Amino acid sequence: MPRPLCPRRVGASPPSTYFKPRGVPVSKLEEVVLSVDELEALRLADLEGLYHEDSAARMNVSRATFGRIVEAARRKVAQVLVRGRALKIEGGAVEVPALRRFACAACGHGWSEPFGTGRPGVCPACRGDDFQRVDGGGRGSGPHRRAAARRGGRGRGRRG
Ligand SMILES: [Zn+2]
Repeated sequence: MPRPLCPRRVGASPPSTYFKPRGVPVSKLEEVVLSVDELEALRLADLEGLYHEDSAARMNVSRATFGRIVEAARRKVAQVLVRGRALKIEGGAVEVPALRRFACAACGHGWSEPFGTGRPGVCPACRGDDFQRVDGGGRGSGPHRRAAARRGGRGRGRRG
């Protein structure tokens, strides 16, 4: 049997980001799934403050399509906040930004943890506690998140 490589908990699953109300077990929460293109739409329109037209161009969809995507995204986020749902972001081959990276000084193991889970107690590989956060909390290092999610049917289904 081949020797297992460095165990990577996170590497086993596709990148995803999860947000939930504090103190409520996941089993008791209804989950809202936000797709990556919806997240990207929120980022462009609400975080960067771009006009729908420019946002649409960046995502390579029609303006009408962008409008629908961002509207759906906002409704989902509102649902999460107002009704106390869990929010899961998934879909698309993307680098999820909301991960904290740690590296172990003792064994060299590197791994990621989602935000909101607290500082890990020990290195998952060697169980030591001589590790530190290495992502620097900054952007610009590592692969950039790309809007891989391109809805088919671009420019279709316009209304009005
Ligand atoms: Zn270690």
